[in-house]
Amino acid sequence: MRRTKIVATLGPASLEREVLAAMIRAGLDVARLNTSHGDLDSHVRAVALVREVAAAENRHIAVLMDLGGPKIRTGGTLDGLPLILEKGATLTLTGPAPEPCTPTRVSIDYPRLREDVSPGQRVLLDDGNIELRVNAVTPDGLECEVIDGGPLLPRRGVSFPSSRLNLGALTPRDRLAINAGISSGIDYFAQSFVGSAEDLIETRNLLRSLGANTPIIAKIERRQAVEDLESILAEADGAMVARGDLGVELPPEDVPIHQRAILAAAGRRLLPVITATQMLESMVHSPRPTRAEVSDVANATWALSDALMLSEETAIGQYPVETVAMMDRIIRRAEAAFPAELDGSRQPRADNHSYVIAQAARRIVESDINMRGIVCFTMSGRTAGLVSKVHPNAPIFALSPKESVCRKLALARGVVPILVPLVHSSEEMLQTADRVLTARGYLREGEEVVVVASVPVQAVGATNFVKLHRVGESSAY
Ligand code: PEP
Repeated sequence: MRRTKIVATLGPASLEREVLAAMIRAGLDVARLNTSHGDLDSHVRAVALVREVAAAENRHIAVLMDLGGPKIRTGGTLDGLPLILEKGATLTLTGPAPEPCTPTRVSIDYPRLREDVSPGQRVLLDDGNIELRVNAVTPDGLECEVIDGGPLLPRRGVSFPSSRLNLGALTPRDRLAINAGISSGIDYFAQSFVGSAEDLIETRNLLRSLGANTPIIAKIERRQAVEDLESILAEADGAMVARGDLGVELPPEDVPIHQRAILAAAGRRLLPVITATQMLESMVHSPRPTRAEVSDVANATWALSDALMLSEETAIGQYPVETVAMMDRIIRRAEAAFPAELDGSRQPRADNHSYVIAQAARRIVESDINMRGIVCFTMSGRTAGLVSKVHPNAPIFALSPKESVCRKLALARGVVPILVPLVHSSEEMLQTADRVLTARGYLREGEEVVVVASVPVQAVGATNFVKLHRVGESSAY
């Protein structure tokens, strides 16, 4: 059974019933919709398609809506033609302006340039392909020297790796996407270009005002986010190591260091982490990955990522199904070769009995080779999420009466979500586990499992129940 989950971005290459069904059969767990591309109506249709195909395949698939966020872009150029910025030339960077950019005057859609940027700081255009240095702040904007030149197409990404900007949390388009996402019942939002904890709080407040409590995954992709990681994680429901944009603001050699730090920090907080971008990028055009990509997927698995993400590979690539199947094979091989070790660095707070119970369940299941897994009854997904974060070397069967909880748990490492009827007592809970898990072929009568839950079973509360259970014994109650 594969533990690390697979997130795949949907796009023109995969938004077709047959392709999506084949991707689900190949191992897709979470479907990502990237609202930076395409119109919102097409994303709403995509949610409906995922729901329909997942139901036909009898699988719980989560939908993650990725909000484009406040990405700064350059203005237009005359007739959309590229400008050539020569190394050593000077140019003025201005705030939003209606006129087209020229080689000496480039506008960007950030109005607070003069307040937030200082002389000596760097500016990267076209996702890092062109570098400028700010020489002076003038009444007109920023006077810059071109350090690395090149052609500049219209509406290219801009970043300020050495400045602290106030980008705001959400664009008007993100707000529309949030409304569309809530009405179509998506399971996670991912928030792009998070710069501070306040950015997440703003989104959370907006969701609450709309009556939603959808979990928010913070995409860590700015230098500012790396610097404020702990306070950002304190407000997040999960994190994404967004290596693409992170590698624009930071030197590429720093990205693996931050990947490790983000995984460790989110792990200590028991938050799910998605490792993302360029994992099998060569498969956009080739049926086989490079050896370095295979190694990256295996290493991210051993680093205890909860999920690994595919972007262009499945959105616009030539081999979307083959890429998911390849990722599935690499993860399975890696997990079988080196199962997760108990990580002593995760120190729960002294009062966190739920976490201690999750750890105890892991120790019990791993101490006896006859133990077949951990069964969690979970109303909110919290108990199963906690057990997932202690990384037991055994399957975690998460039984919940809520379909939305089953879908959310599609992201949780090692968790097999199973929809069950509502139960009213711990006896009924054990009977249900026996019946459902044997009927699906996960367990046989007489096999042993550890059952964890929060009792009374109908309420959402702390995990307070642990039982060593022999399958079939429940009929004796
Ligand atoms: C990234 O930058 O790595 C990322 C995941 O974000 P996006 O794909 O939205 O650019």
